[in-house]
Amino acid sequence: MTETVEAPAVTRIPHWIGGRRVDGASGRSGPVYNPATGRQTGAVDFATVEEVDAAVRAAKDAFPGWRETSLAKRAELFFRIRELLHARREEVAEILVREHGKVFSDALGEVTRGLEVVEHCCGIPTLLKGEHSEQASTGIDVYSIRQPLGVVVGITPFNFPAMVPMWMWAPAIACGNCFVLKPSEKDPSASLWVAELLREAGLPDGVFNVVMGDRVAVDALLAHPDVAAISFVGSTPIARYVYETATASGKRCQALGGAKNHMIVLPDADVDAAADAAVSAGYGSAGERCMAVSVVVTVGDVAQPLVDAIRQRIPQVRVGDGMDPSSEMGPLVTREHRDRVASYVENAPAEGATVVVDGREGVPEAGFFLNPSLLDGVTPAMKAYVDEIFGPVLGVTRVETYEEAVRLVNESPYGNGVAIFTRDGGAARQFQFDVQAGMVGINVPIPVPVAYYSFGGWKSSLFGDRHVYGPEAIDFYTRGKVVTSRWPDPATSRIDLGFPQTR
Ligand code: NAD
Repeated sequence: MTETVEAPAVTRIPHWIGGRRVDGASGRSGPVYNPATGRQTGAVDFATVEEVDAAVRAAKDAFPGWRETSLAKRAELFFRIRELLHARREEVAEILVREHGKVFSDALGEVTRGLEVVEHCCGIPTLLKGEHSEQASTGIDVYSIRQPLGVVVGITPFNFPAMVPMWMWAPAIACGNCFVLKPSEKDPSASLWVAELLREAGLPDGVFNVVMGDRVAVDALLAHPDVAAISFVGSTPIARYVYETATASGKRCQALGGAKNHMIVLPDADVDAAADAAVSAGYGSAGERCMAVSVVVTVGDVAQPLVDAIRQRIPQVRVGDGMDPSSEMGPLVTREHRDRVASYVENAPAEGATVVVDGREGVPEAGFFLNPSLLDGVTPAMKAYVDEIFGPVLGVTRVETYEEAVRLVNESPYGNGVAIFTRDGGAARQFQFDVQAGMVGINVPIPVPVAYYSFGGWKSSLFGDRHVYGPEAIDFYTRGKVVTSRWPDPATSRIDLGFPQTR
């Protein structure tokens, strides 16, 4: 007797417009995989220009009511969102594991860091406080207020499918805007899950919308006359394109790009602590973090002991399906990406680098796995140094002096995160003064700021003037208005054609 094996189900992943799921009508869709098995589990609808327009219209229609909603009610709603997200964080973490591939504990960490931004937004009444000057001129008071922009958009990358959208929608909505999210087409389901949770928390329909899609959706959002602002996070070429296109049509834009984060290890550093940090920050989330360490710069004779210490730790990293509690590192997001990352290991000897650990060895057939790799003798002329690899490949660049190390960082086109490992407080303080990067870690390898500071890089890691979340998000998602007021006093009223002067 032959057994019939049913084809595994592929779930359709639609848009979310005006408070409900809306199937796409374009007939175009993209595959979504479970990277641990390599099996296609979903098909995400790709929006048409009309569907993007419908989402923007839903947001525009919801805006008058939402901007009138009192700060007290908005804060109350954010406390409810926080409670629901916290209570159900394991559900969304599982979705992240199944579509992104990161391990469950890491996915929970992502949700928790995103939750911090939601928690910060519970304080929106305080965050939106203006200033007031009584009697700025005789009988005249002056005060400032901040008002929402209207419809604002978030376009997000695959590597943090829950947290990066939270960096955007939480402050945007708390400030009184209505939001359209265009998540990565590689792992879109977390956005629908969030949409349903926001509705359950009581967010009015139309305040939060999701359009799924590719470049067609992005271009329609960038061109839409009713979109006031765009927040983007992704790779540098697309960030540059989004920034230039959005600002050319008069939109406010912050576009965060790629990174190549250096970790500098001075000769006095604790070698074991530095090796632990390099392994954690280089291979965590399979290196698919914009704040991952991808180059370790050793200064002087710390090089060999550090390379040895990293090499010894690599076999202990447990690689496997993210839902297996013993896994510490999962697969990469797609087969193409895995193969691209592996090509840097393959080409390293021809470039003149040494492959100390080859992560292409011993990977399972199924899924998009690549084990941790370590390259030594990487120089700034090599592609392995220049390119953002975005995978579990750590390069070691050896230099002789602190000055050379800082020069490397400052000559990089990117300026996202950077870290220094040392016991010398003076050297660390000098480093924070010298270095050209937006986020600096001192004996901290992944210095993602807490939610009440703002996140953002320098140079080609950020196009625009405002970083995301924290105080700069409040600026980004609002416009300032200054009111100068005098109450009628017939006793002092007179005609004066001169330019108003304070008195
Ligand atoms: P990506 O640039 O390919 O995609 C980001 C978004 O842009 C997605 O929504 C995608 O659909 C859209 N997009 C892709 N190609 C497009 C095109 N030609 N035209 C218009 N839109 C397009 O990035 P990714 O691969 O999803 O994410 C990884 C990248 O994101 C890495 O470079 C990483 O460093 C970066 N990243 C940066 C930060 C940061 O804070 N600076 C944070 C996370 C990720």
